[in-house]
Amino acid sequence: METKGNISIHAQNIMPVIKRWLYSDKDIFIREMVSNGCDAITKYKMLKGETDEDLRVTVTVDKEAGELRFTDNGIGMTAEEVEKYINQVAFSSAEEFLKNYTGDDKGGIIGHFGLGFYSAFMAADKVTIDTLSYQDGAAPVLWESEDGMAFSMRDGGRTERGTTIILHIMEDEKEFLDGYRVRGVLDRYCGYMNTPIYLQDLSKEETKKDPDEPTGTEEEEKAKEEKPINDTHPLWLKNPKDCTEAEYKETYQKLFHTFEDPLFWVHLNVDYPFNLKGILYFPRIKKDFGGQEGEIKLFNRQVFVADNIKEVIPEFLMLLKGVIDCPDLPLNVSRSFLQNDGCVKKLSAHITKKVADKLNGLFNTERKQYETYWDDIHPFVKYGCVRDAKFYDMVKGSLLFKTTAGEYLTLDEYKSRNEGKAEKKVYYTTEQNRQAAAVALYTEKGIDVAVMDTLIDMNFMSFMEFGGGNDGLQFVRVDADVSGLTEESEEGKDIDQAAMEKLFRDALGDKELTVKIEALSDHTLPVVLTEEEQVRRYKEMSAMYGQDFGFPSKYTLVLNRLCPTIRALAAMEEGDVTTLLCKQLFDLARLSSRPLEAEDLKSFIARSNELVAQLAEKA
Ligand code: ADP
Ligand code: MG
Repeated sequence: METKGNISIHAQNIMPVIKRWLYSDKDIFIREMVSNGCDAITKYKMLKGETDEDLRVTVTVDKEAGELRFTDNGIGMTAEEVEKYINQVAFSSAEEFLKNYTGDDKGGIIGHFGLGFYSAFMAADKVTIDTLSYQDGAAPVLWESEDGMAFSMRDGGRTERGTTIILHIMEDEKEFLDGYRVRGVLDRYCGYMNTPIYLQDLSKEETKKDPDEPTGTEEEEKAKEEKPINDTHPLWLKNPKDCTEAEYKETYQKLFHTFEDPLFWVHLNVDYPFNLKGILYFPRIKKDFGGQEGEIKLFNRQVFVADNIKEVIPEFLMLLKGVIDCPDLPLNVSRSFLQNDGCVKKLSAHITKKVADKLNGLFNTERKQYETYWDDIHPFVKYGCVRDAKFYDMVKGSLLFKTTAGEYLTLDEYKSRNEGKAEKKVYYTTEQNRQAAAVALYTEKGIDVAVMDTLIDMNFMSFMEFGGGNDGLQFVRVDADVSGLTEESEEGKDIDQAAMEKLFRDALGDKELTVKIEALSDHTLPVVLTEEEQVRRYKEMSAMYGQDFGFPSKYTLVLNRLCPTIRALAAMEEGDVTTLLCKQLFDLARLSSRPLEAEDLKSFIARSNELVAQLAEKA
């Protein structure tokens, strides 16, 4: 025997779920009430066509009465509609409405699931609907419920078309009777909704009557009050052709409460195969972006949904700021749903491509301008490459390396400029000033040195070496090896390398130290301390993770036989003076790769003082 039927839902069981699980942020009940008002007005406009009526949603904060009221002059509801759409949970009128609607403009309705209304019970211990339908001869309806389950319905007394939803705020949620709090929530969620929204704070109006209160002139106050809290025509919904630079900047400043200007932006404007509108701004990022977070605001038909939804925005784009408005993304669903949503993946891929296109476009058509942006955007671009190989593939031709001379070169440009001098290598510095001596050894030979001084550069370089498909490319820091930078010269050729190594080892008490003699072109430079690239990187990495994996230091002290100091040292009798010189030279060499610490610094200073004293004595 077979039976068929419909699954029924018990309000008693589903209501707690709606209250606690569906809406993690309590304050969104305000968004839901306002968006229902906007929908009611949108529907009214769709049915009536053009009208010059003053259609608006008003949010009234009535602290004295303990109420928050949402009033709209939209289509209102008949008793049958209340029965149907309010008394049945998860029944939205949106679908039916659109089915019956024959006009063209179908895009404006926010509601969808028929769940929003019940969010009122998260903050209210009594909800009243006072409504009158636009339909001729309709009777006003008054509906009331204390828990969203049991309700009463009777004839109301309303005479004006529209709806007022009255929330009697619970004891625990009294914060929602504070005008500033409500204003904050409205700004966040409703700042760009499609219908003018006004806030009316009755307690403020009370105090205004107080003659001692220093307020603006009555007109000023009135003007302030008469302004809707929202911008009903957000820039991102306009055609990019019609948007000016000033407007982009203004929207940026307003969205992110800043006086700064963005560098440039990408206007997303797709209708097919999905609907995606938005503006992504490149902010000034500067140096280490570790602490810097971008901010992407997600909207659904002008209704704010959430910030920084990692599931929708590719992670590396989270360093950008901007808005994304996408009606295909459901308003109320959980994040884990978004993760698995195919539409989200497509969006994310599209956004990645648009950003890459913008960068390539700037690179190809406005190279000079693009270079001026590079200092700000490179951490973001590099991070993107490391995180997303597809993004890297798209932008790899537009990646720049800034040199110590302030030029910006692509990898190919670097390669061809340094052909024969830097085979499959890119030489770099992490600290241009500190490593100046080693940098100069390269630049004097006409080799470009890239500045890689942000946090992401380490990862970026390993990515380029191993994951970038760059065929054996290696990044080498200027102090990793200087043996290729020598000059042809006979001077000091007779200095005995083994003897010098012993001299330094004894003076420094370091039996492992390797000493090498080279002829470096900077004759004023006595010593350079080099450390193999890979060894140094391992050590830096373990330090970054706060661990010591026990990699032994493998420094090589390079003595420059073209520097008179070294030749003099080699000719000296071993004794106190050579010990002092060795120590001092070693410290100077160390200083040019990193700061001296504690004891080392102390003895360096003491030794320097001694040297200065000796000099003064001699003079
Ligand atoms: P949704 O907005 O997703 O449709 P809601 O639970 O927010 O679901 O609302 C359910 C239904 O109640 C709406 O579809 C609409 O028909 C009706 N409704 C709610 N608020 C209003 C209002 N202010 N004016 C007219 N109808 C309303
Ligand atoms: Mg709704």
